[in-house]
Amino acid sequence: MADTAKIDRNGLSPRFWERKPLRKLSPQEWEALCDGCGKCCLNKLEDEDTGAVALTCVACRLLDDDTGLCTQYPIRHQFVPECIVLKPENLDTHAYWMPQTCAYRLLWEGKSLPEWHPLVSGDPDSVHAAGVSVRGRTVSEFETPLEEWEDYIIEEPV
Ligand code: SF4
Repeated sequence: MADTAKIDRNGLSPRFWERKPLRKLSPQEWEALCDGCGKCCLNKLEDEDTGAVALTCVACRLLDDDTGLCTQYPIRHQFVPECIVLKPENLDTHAYWMPQTCAYRLLWEGKSLPEWHPLVSGDPDSVHAAGVSVRGRTVSEFETPLEEWEDYIIEEPV
């Protein structure tokens, strides 16, 4: 999703997200909203009958469990063509399935960013210290057969 190997939060205006609508953000500001939680990089299971969606800890093949970040963000579509490019224009379509704490979803819902968001705390590790990221919690989709994913359903860490 919006993970980068290193999220560039340098030189941004203080609390820009409170002063500008999402559609007016610069590309750097937009990318900097990502808190690096990695939760959108977890595979989900959808119940065909009910439409209910369950989160698993089976991660996208490109997610680095040690950092919680995408290892190939700029060229990820070469490996995972279906990875969504989140933009202000398609947030209406995707916000409903984004993690509850995702900054894009929170702002889309008119809410504030939490204290642990790196843009607020000034510390990229605060998202991990708060226990809301997937760092160190995932299993590889390469090593986990699809028929076993049900055994890896988790509650979203919030
Ligand atoms: S869920 Fe949102 S904040 Fe977390 S990694 Fe994905 S895009 Fe970034």
